[in-house]
Amino acid sequence: MMNNEASETEKQLLTENKKLSRELKRLRKDNELLRIANEQATYTQAYIQKDSIRQAFYNEQLLRSAANLLILTDDRMQTIVTSDVFFEYNNRYDKLRVKQGIPLSEALSGVLDEKDLRELIKKCALALEGESIDTYLVRSIVLGKQMDWQIHIRRMQQGEQIVGLNILFADSTKLVNALEQAEAADRAKSNFLANMSHEIRTPMNAIGGMAEFILRDTKEENTRRYAASIRSASRTLLSIINDILDISKIESGNFELIEEDFQTASLIQDVVTIIEIRLQDKPVRLETVIDPALPGRLYGDEVRLKQVLINLLGNAVKFTGEGSITLEIKVEREDDTHCRLKMKVKDTGIGIQAADLDTIFSSFTQVDTKRNRAVEGTGLGLAISRKMIEMMGGTISVKSVYGQGTEFIFDVLTKVESWKAIGDFKEMKGPVVNPYQITFKAEQTSALVVDDNQMNLDVAEGLLLPYGIQVTCVESGEEALGTLKENGYDIVFMDHMMPVMDGVETLRKLREMPGGEGLCVIALTANALSGAAAEYSSLGFQGFLAKPIEPQEMEQILKRHLPKEKLKPLSGASENLSGDPEKDSLVKDSPAPLSETGGVIDPEIGLKYCMGNQAFYQKMLKTFAEGEKRKELSKLLKEQALEDYRIAVHTVKSTARTIGAIRLSHTAKELEDMARRRDVTGMPERHAALLEEYERVLNQINQG
Ligand code: ADP
Repeated sequence: MMNNEASETEKQLLTENKKLSRELKRLRKDNELLRIANEQATYTQAYIQKDSIRQAFYNEQLLRSAANLLILTDDRMQTIVTSDVFFEYNNRYDKLRVKQGIPLSEALSGVLDEKDLRELIKKCALALEGESIDTYLVRSIVLGKQMDWQIHIRRMQQGEQIVGLNILFADSTKLVNALEQAEAADRAKSNFLANMSHEIRTPMNAIGGMAEFILRDTKEENTRRYAASIRSASRTLLSIINDILDISKIESGNFELIEEDFQTASLIQDVVTIIEIRLQDKPVRLETVIDPALPGRLYGDEVRLKQVLINLLGNAVKFTGEGSITLEIKVEREDDTHCRLKMKVKDTGIGIQAADLDTIFSSFTQVDTKRNRAVEGTGLGLAISRKMIEMMGGTISVKSVYGQGTEFIFDVLTKVESWKAIGDFKEMKGPVVNPYQITFKAEQTSALVVDDNQMNLDVAEGLLLPYGIQVTCVESGEEALGTLKENGYDIVFMDHMMPVMDGVETLRKLREMPGGEGLCVIALTANALSGAAAEYSSLGFQGFLAKPIEPQEMEQILKRHLPKEKLKPLSGASENLSGDPEKDSLVKDSPAPLSETGGVIDPEIGLKYCMGNQAFYQKMLKTFAEGEKRKELSKLLKEQALEDYRIAVHTVKSTARTIGAIRLSHTAKELEDMARRRDVTGMPERHAALLEEYERVLNQINQG
């Protein structure tokens, strides 16, 4: 039993011993592992220490060699570290001082001037609040030297937390200088081009003008042919020079828009007239899709807008052999005083290859030159148009299918003078010929007509005589005052624009005369604008009539202003006159139609202004021919007497329209606008066109 117990204990001890020795083994192993781990940790620590020393060294190197000024700050805008460049501008600080923290406003006081420093601090504060700040350029004087800094401000973040700022001042002095030099050289080039083209234009005008004289004075066939070639070549050259002048003005920053108040329909009609003339020998139709809601009067650079439209439509004419060209104009209201005109010029022409679409708006770029070799142009038209459109607050784009056609889409922002819609543009084009029937007689009344132009006197007299009114005509304000001293009249029609004493001045003197105060005086004007009624009324006129005078309007004026008891109604006469002069004046000044047949005089229109009376119309034609102004106009242009030229061509505008010579009237209007703007660039060319058309009109009158 004892033995048994002893052996049992021994067994247990043995088992225990084995367990302990296993445990000891495991502990030894663990110990070994720990030792290895410890060794590794020591090694890693040494490595890290070494690495951070190395990193600090690299950082140091970076900051030392950085060409730019770099500043890191904490979130209170106190410096943490800077690149060594910083000490070049601030020798009063050292690295330790920077590490201790210098307020940014102090640290940068030698680098930026006061205003820019304030601006920078403001931006830094915004950056610390989480806003992103754009890179910007600042010029300052540092240690007496001009420097251009490009400043980048970036936040430093740890996770979500903003811990400070990283501010980089890149020295861009050389770059900015180079840029300024390049810009100055470019401006000098553009100025040179502008001056040169201006200088070239003067002799070019002489060449064209002389060719014109030869054509006028010579019957000899060959000489005429040569002169015609000279004239045509000088016109082409002149238009190239004008393009170069425009583009160089734009590029040198000297181009300005001249804004004036203009009539929307008249702008469109002018453009349409010019393009229709260019299309005369081509099987291509011009179609117009004009938004009836277009405001009647706009305020903008009419001449430049016209130039853009004519350029795009002109290209369409050049590159379209058959089919059609469409001009589409829509309007969008921008705010109470502005609208956006959305325009499209579409053609069924040769189209433009997709690869060329990006380049066509660049200066001097013509594409597909192999195919278009015979087509004239400088490659400047679209570049000029794009710049002008951009200056008018719009953009232009192009779509094209090669071989099928091209579409230019563009828009401009313009001020609105009058929201009164233009209505149906096509309606305006159609001739209106209803011989006008007078509705009453006024035989007991008398009228005085004052106008410096004989033909205008004839028109007014012709419109008044059927009423049985006693008419007196005089040709100046002076004469009018003389006549009025002696005689009384029921009504006076007074031209606004007269040489020496104009209508307004005459009216002022007239009102001061005994009995002149209550006299009814109606202004005659060839420039009726919306609001004209109010304007003339504020000047002291009782009303106004736009020239050429529409018979209906004359009747309304007579009906309103002649003594009622002296009016004798005619039986069967209609009584439905609108009685709204402003409404009618807008229609009246809207562009008259271009004859569908392309004739130089449209008798239907002329007859309309003469109440359908053939004899009266024939008299008008004769007066027009007798009062022809070609010599006078050429002389005035040659002497550059632009103001007198404007007055003379203004008369041609209205008298030509009165007889139905619409194209001549349009050309005269263009010249009137040019003379008003003192834009002598295109005048000789348009003047030559005016002389040609004038000659055609006179020939037609003489042939009966
Ligand atoms: P250019 O005065 O030479 O016509 P533009 O700048 O007006 O110069 O036009 C540049 C080029 O774009 C033209 O030479 C022509 O190749 C192309 N282009 C312009 N408009 C059209 C169009 N409607 N159809 C086809 N090609 C066109």
